[in-house]
Parts: sequence; structure tokens; C-alpha cells
Amino acid sequence: KSLCELLLARIHDVPDYPKPGVVFKDITPLLADPEAFTALTEAFAELCARYRADKVVGLEARGFILAAPVAVRAGIGFVPVRKVGKLPGATLSQAYELEYGTAEIEIHAEAFAPGDRVLVIDDVLATGGTAEASLQLIRRAGAEPVGVAVLMELGFLPGRERLEKVLGEAPVDAL
Ligand code: 5GP
Repeated sequence: KSLCELLLARIHDVPDYPKPGVVFKDITPLLADPEAFTALTEAFAELCARYRADKVVGLEARGFILAAPVAVRAGIGFVPVRKVGKLPGATLSQAYELEYGTAEIEIHAEAFAPGDRVLVIDDVLATGGTAEASLQLIRRAGAEPVGVAVLMELGFLPGRERLEKVLGEAPVDAL
């Protein structure tokens, strides 16, 4: 079985969640399957090695679950990007547009050494708004984004195009 088949078999479609008309991609069956979770972690860790990443950034909340074991496997540091008001130290914050209203995320201002190469990890790339805001935070914190890696992208939304504009040469990988 290919990695893609293994992962897809463990991602379940939940219709009308969190609201009518939306089909939510539920990754909890994947997390509960050690073969699939291990394969996913190793695939992300290979990207860290390929891009010579110094740190992985995980996006709250499912990005934390995926990125933390990747950091351990790759032997590099983990940095959280959190919803506003959750980090105890001095922070940088970034607002971004949602379908209805705005959201705000934060990072510790001192999270990186100058010029650190950073891979952003999340579960699902939808509109790309969350990942784009995280790239801005990483740059403002003095580090260099070397890519965005997700478990899955929703190909009917322009998230990839949006991120590629911000990333320049750095890649968007969807496993
Ligand atoms: P975006 O900012 O790209 O529109 O939304 C991406 C964020 O929303 C990610 O942090 C992701 O966890 C969450 N998200 C959006 N749609 C889904 C979905 O269908 N399944 C899961 N698991 N997360 C989603």
C-alpha cells in the first residue's frame, strides 16, 4: 500500500460538521492507528531533513499533535503557534481573515535563533489563511520559512496558490 492510500483510509469524512454543508476531514482514526501515524511522522521528518529545517512549527491544535513527534524523530526543536492569549512570554501576533470575521494567532518573539530554517506543519490546508499568517509570524520573529507541509490539502480551495505567493521558492507539500 502506498503512503497516500494508508493515510487516506484513516481520514474520515464527517458531513455537516462543524456546520451544514461542510464536510470535515476527521484525522482521529489516523492518530489511533500506530502504523499510519508512524508513517506520517516519518514522511514529515524526511521533509525536515530534505529542507534542512532547524525547527518545526505546529499550528494549534491538530498541528501540535502532528508536529511534536516529527520534531523528536528529526532531532530538531518544536515551536507552537497558538491562538491569541495562550503563550506566557513576549509574543508577536498576527490577525487574518476568516469566512466570517477575523482570527488572531501568536508566537513567542524569542522562539528562534536568527535565520533558523523553519518548516510549518498542520493537518489540513483549506483557504491557507492560518498557514499564511504563521509564515508572517515566523518572518517577523527573524526566521526563514522553508516550507509548509500538511497531511492533506483541500484541492478545491486556493490555499496552495496563496501560500506559494508568500513562500517564493519554498515548497508546499501535501502528503
Ligand atoms: P485555513 O486557514 O487553511 O482555511 O484552515 C485551515 C485550518 O482549519 C487548519 O488549522 C485545520 O486544522 C482547520 N481545518 C479546516 N478544515 C478542516 C477539516 O476539514 N478537517 C480538519 N481536521 N481541520 C480542518
